[in-house]
Amino acid sequence: MSIVTTPQNHTVDTALKIIVETNKLRESPEDSIRHLIKPGNMKDKSLGECLNDIKWGGQTSVMYTMGISDMISFIQNWMEQNEGNFQNLFNDKETYDFFIGTTLPYTEHDVCQRNESHKGQIRDFDGNIRCAYSEIKKIRPSYINYFNFFDPFSELNIRQYYESKPLDDLPDDAWGEMGQILPEWKDQHDAYLYEIARFEDEEPTKEVRVHCHSIISDKGFTFSLETILKRLNLEPNHHKVYCNLYSGSCTRQDELNDNEKETYDLIGNCPGHIQPTQRLILGIDSYSLAHKIQLWYEQVPDGQAPLFE
Ligand SMILES: [Zn+2]
Ligand SMILES: [Zn+2]
Repeated sequence: MSIVTTPQNHTVDTALKIIVETNKLRESPEDSIRHLIKPGNMKDKSLGECLNDIKWGGQTSVMYTMGISDMISFIQNWMEQNEGNFQNLFNDKETYDFFIGTTLPYTEHDVCQRNESHKGQIRDFDGNIRCAYSEIKKIRPSYINYFNFFDPFSELNIRQYYESKPLDDLPDDAWGEMGQILPEWKDQHDAYLYEIARFEDEEPTKEVRVHCHSIISDKGFTFSLETILKRLNLEPNHHKVYCNLYSGSCTRQDELNDNEKETYDLIGNCPGHIQPTQRLILGIDSYSLAHKIQLWYEQVPDGQAPLFE
C-alpha cells in the first residue's frame, strides 16, 4: 500500500489534490462523475461509495469539484438509478451503525450568540428559536441611510439603518503651514462646515427598531438538502468575480442591480458579480456525508424533505 502524504507546509489546495490511494492512482474524480451518472452505473451501489469515488481527498478534509446544486443533481441521479431501493442504500449496514447518534448540522445554543446579555426567545414560523431582543435606535431624519447585508447570526438578509454624518473630504494638503485652509479649498471647507452644523442642530427623532433575531436553536426545523450542504461546506458558498481587473470595464452590465450600476457609473470599475462557488470542501468523509443525506431524507415521511431552500 503506498500512501502519498503532504508536508505540513503545503497549502490546503495542494493537500486536497493529493489522492490517498492504494497501489496506483485511480481515474480522476471527474472521470468517476462522468462514469457514475450514466444509467445503471450507480445501481445497487451505496451513496457513501459513490461519493467516495468522486472526491478529492486531503488529510483533514475532502473536496468535491462541484457546486451545491450540482451535488444535489448527483444525489438525485443516484436516487433515480436506485428507485424503490435507495432508502436502504445510503450506506451499508456496518457503516450505518457506526454513525448512529450523529445528527444534522443543527444550531443549538443556550443564549444569544450575538450578545449573551440579550434576554427572551421567540419561535418563528419555521420552528427556529430566535433571540427576541430588540432596541430602538434614534436617527437624524435627514441623514438616514441604509445598507443590506446577510447576517450570519440570524441567517437573514437584513437592512441596517444608520446615520450618515457629513464627511470632510479635504485632502491633507488642503491646509497651510499654520493650519489655515488654503484658498482653493475654502468653498468646499465652508460647505462642509455648513453641513456639519446642520447635522449637529438636527434632533435624532426618527425611531428605528432593530431586532436581533439571532438563531438560538433550529433543532426541530426541517432542513433542505441545500441548507445542510451549505452548513457543512468549509468554503464560502459564494464568491465575487470581476470582469476585467486591468481595464475595469464590466461586460455583464445587464446583470447589475441599481446600486451596482450606480457604483459602476461612478468609479468605472466592474463592481464584481456574486457567483456560487463551484466546489465543496467538507470536514467529514464521504460515508459520513451519505449519512447526513440519509438523515435529511428521513426528516419527513415519504421523501417530502425539500431539496432547496
Ligand atoms: Zn440577540
Ligand atoms: Zn462585470
